[in-house]
Amino acid sequence: MKRHRGTGAEQGESALRSTDTDGSLAPLDATEPYDVCIIGSGPAGSVLGSTLAGRGARVLMLESGRGLHAWLTDRRIRSLARYDFTGDTDYPLSRTTSRLLGGNSNFWTGRCERFHPSDFEPHAYTPAENPWPITYADLDPYYDQAEQLFRVRGGPRSGFSPPRRGPLPLPPSADISFLKHLGAALGVTFEESATATPTKTLRIFKVQREILPAFLASERTTLVTGANVTRLLAGPDRCIVGAEVKGFDGTTKVARARYFVVSCGGIESPRLLLLSSSEQFPNGVGNTYDMVGRGFNEHPNVSFTGTIPHSWGTMVPTNKVARTHQHYSAFRGEGLGSVFPVMRQAWVLPNHIAKFRLANLPRNILNGLGRVVRAPLFIGAGTEMSISRANRVTLSQTRTDLFGSPIAHLIMNYSEEDRQLLDRARGLLRGWLSRLQVGSVRELEVAWSRHHQGACRMGRSPATSVVDANLKVHEAPNLYVCGSEVFVTGGAMQPSLTIAALALRLADHLADSLRAGRGR
Ligand SMILES: Cc1cc2nc3c(=O)[nH]c(=O)nc-3n(C[C@H](O)[C@H](O)[C@H](O)COP(=O)(O)OP(=O)(O)OC[C@H]3O[C@@H](n4cnc5c(N)ncnc54)[C@H](O)[C@@H]3O)c2cc1C
Repeated sequence: MKRHRGTGAEQGESALRSTDTDGSLAPLDATEPYDVCIIGSGPAGSVLGSTLAGRGARVLMLESGRGLHAWLTDRRIRSLARYDFTGDTDYPLSRTTSRLLGGNSNFWTGRCERFHPSDFEPHAYTPAENPWPITYADLDPYYDQAEQLFRVRGGPRSGFSPPRRGPLPLPPSADISFLKHLGAALGVTFEESATATPTKTLRIFKVQREILPAFLASERTTLVTGANVTRLLAGPDRCIVGAEVKGFDGTTKVARARYFVVSCGGIESPRLLLLSSSEQFPNGVGNTYDMVGRGFNEHPNVSFTGTIPHSWGTMVPTNKVARTHQHYSAFRGEGLGSVFPVMRQAWVLPNHIAKFRLANLPRNILNGLGRVVRAPLFIGAGTEMSISRANRVTLSQTRTDLFGSPIAHLIMNYSEEDRQLLDRARGLLRGWLSRLQVGSVRELEVAWSRHHQGACRMGRSPATSVVDANLKVHEAPNLYVCGSEVFVTGGAMQPSLTIAALALRLADHLADSLRAGRGR
């Protein structure tokens, strides 16, 4: 049970099944330090762990969740995804996180765009005192690798999309020529939504199936599920000397390693740093300047549905999704953020992120029947949020989890710029709907993308950021954070490809450090 061996994806899968203990920490070797201890098995932890395993490192991965069945049925695990929330954004936080092997890749839609080069350059939403410490060119080779790893599919990229050397690894799976044709009538270039491709059809690209098998194939790796890291323990020199781990069976162990990487997702990573206060870090690890948790941002979406006359293109019952990069920076000149419009023509799933409301059911059924007469069309846009210090992850003053630790408290309000940008995006989309003569237009409630960004941001100084350009916590010599929580600004793109690119870059950095004998 301690190590899980295999050579191919299938062996990896059976090894994966054998990893699910009943919540005991038995596989964790607490005697000899590992090279690297990774906390969290979502896309960030899995990509990092599998890459380091390929370099021969002795890696421990600690994952609080277990399989999907445990997530759905084990009340102890579900209780770990409770939060306090304050703010006018009405954010459905508890429906955006999970405690599961593979993290939120169990639920994501696999969309995998790169950030634009302009995201890394100073713009209206970049904190003046804390620009990105890396550029697009720094990530470019890692984006290539990440796209290979995620088997990203899509057609030829237009000149509006982020620059790349060659085509995406795989061709598109759906024909979106109908949507491209609609876009052309507006003078707008739509393209396939770049998407991760699972090795078996009819599956979601779950990292525990697609990426973790490479981690389990190494004889020098250990995955422990049901392993809840409750605090990081610091030595007198501010090095992290251990991670306190609690199992669901009541046991506690300390995991030791030369390097620790926190990849617990955009809410739980800052929470773990805040929970780890000590004599060396009285306000939490890396939080001398009160930066941990600040700058949290998401992607609010404006969305419209309507109908158009049927044609050959609309008769095909598959889900057709197209996006355009053409207007990405259209509103930046007005001091606002970026936008990423999407057009969808589907019989079954017109908008998967819309809030489900029982009261809407009769209308939705009627709409479904109406699709036989006229085709449904969905047009929306994801938007960037401005960076506000006041939007933050902090610790609850009143509620604790089953291990006695304060749960996370998210505070997230709209800024004036956020509201203006949503309005500008509405205006852009209404213009398209009108020019395409879309009927029965209805605006939906603002929907959220479930992208948790910015709460442990990168930068050059501990006074303005939490981690440096290598993702190392400024104030702790052997502690790293990996995930969208390190983004300086949020752009309007989905985060996971950038998370994977950062994880691959961090793997290079840690492999170099291990080779050079740096760290503990
Ligand atoms: C419905 C939905 C659709 C989405 N669609 C897309 C999309 O199309 N494209 C895209 O790029 N992104 C999408 N996302 C977001 C994407 O899933 C996240 O960006 C991604 O999963 C983040 O990866 P991560 O590894 O940083 O964190 P997570 O996936 O959140 O993984 C963190 C892991 O850490 C574990 N953990 C937390 N705390 C502890 C602890 N104390 N001890 C041990 N383990 C711990 C958790 O159990 C979890 O497994 C979507 C998300 C949702 C919910």
